[in-house]
Amino acid sequence: MDSLLKHMVDMTGHRDHTMLDISVISAVQELAHASQTRVLTLATVRGQTFVRPRATISAGQPARMEDHPDPGSPGDPIALFPALAACLAHHEASAEQRNASGGHTLWLPIWLGDKADTCLEIVNPTPYTSDTIHVIGGIVSVYRNFQNLLDYSERDSLTGLLNRKTFDDQLAKMLAASIEADSLTLPGEPERRAHTDEEKQWLAVIDVDHFKLVNDKFGHLYGDEVLILIANLLTSSFRAQDRVFRFGGEEFVVLLRSTSLANAKKIIDRFRMNVEAHDFPQVGQVTVSVGFVSISAFEAPVIILGRADQALYYAKSHGRNLACHYDELVAGGLLQTVESNDTAEFF
Ligand code: GH3
Ligand code: MG
Ligand code: MG
Repeated sequence: MDSLLKHMVDMTGHRDHTMLDISVISAVQELAHASQTRVLTLATVRGQTFVRPRATISAGQPARMEDHPDPGSPGDPIALFPALAACLAHHEASAEQRNASGGHTLWLPIWLGDKADTCLEIVNPTPYTSDTIHVIGGIVSVYRNFQNLLDYSERDSLTGLLNRKTFDDQLAKMLAASIEADSLTLPGEPERRAHTDEEKQWLAVIDVDHFKLVNDKFGHLYGDEVLILIANLLTSSFRAQDRVFRFGGEEFVVLLRSTSLANAKKIIDRFRMNVEAHDFPQVGQVTVSVGFVSISAFEAPVIILGRADQALYYAKSHGRNLACHYDELVAGGLLQTVESNDTAEFF
């Protein structure tokens, strides 16, 4: 019981999803005397479910985060896990399977309403007793509630997008993943791709044009509805691997992962045109201006944001409803670089 309490205190002491994952598998591993415990992400892509491990602990080894060798891949098809697939289809609390190697695997999806996008997987040499399943079930409930609470603190309550508080963390994660992907040489690749020239990470700052007029003319409630609809257009226009934030008021930031300049331009312009073409109830047409820039791992977030802001203000002062690329403006002599350590001038 002492050990159970210790694990509960540990789990609820974190303010970060990764650390929460690590502490839940450590707790389950010890309390179930398991040979291996994993946290799996269940991702739905175009109606198909994929399974992708995100943290693992094996007997006698420390817990570790898992990074899929291909960051663009959603994982393994659920068809490879028939017992788990049946459990999800029937909305059941757990599924158990005897493995060919003699062990037993137990899956516990973390249900939030009728959706489960996380699942615990426990492998044991012997079958699970009802006591073990009962204790693990309790841990899963605490994990679910706490994950819910963390999600709530990371999201903006009006739009459901990530809030500004989570930006630095997400940017650091994206940069770390890109540095790691750069250093990987996949089997069959004669040499590393010239990743740095080809594919980069991008940051785009988006600001609604003349939004004050929307509020003044139609009222705050309609203004809020426009923000919610723009958030939906952001989520549907960008890719699953990109991250969308509401930075404040009517300003949004998007982090685009590993893509070429041509593709970043295409994706950003697709979003801009989706907003332009959308018929907002009562309000009619709304447009957005965008400034974007490539991200370098060696520059402070505030410098990168400042450059995107400069490009955004160029778009604002040249007709609005435009997406402007910082480097292109600088190369064309249309913007001055402001290379200064005094970041206050940007804000
Ligand atoms: P510009 O094209 O230059 O960006 O013009 P603008 O009118 O959009 O710019 P400005 O920054 O002057 O106005 C932003 C407005 O956004 C002012 C503020 O009242 C409104 N706003 C900020 N947050 C919210 C919100 O949560 N809901 C609503 N309805 N309005 C908001
Ligand atoms: Mg603004
Ligand atoms: Mg605005």
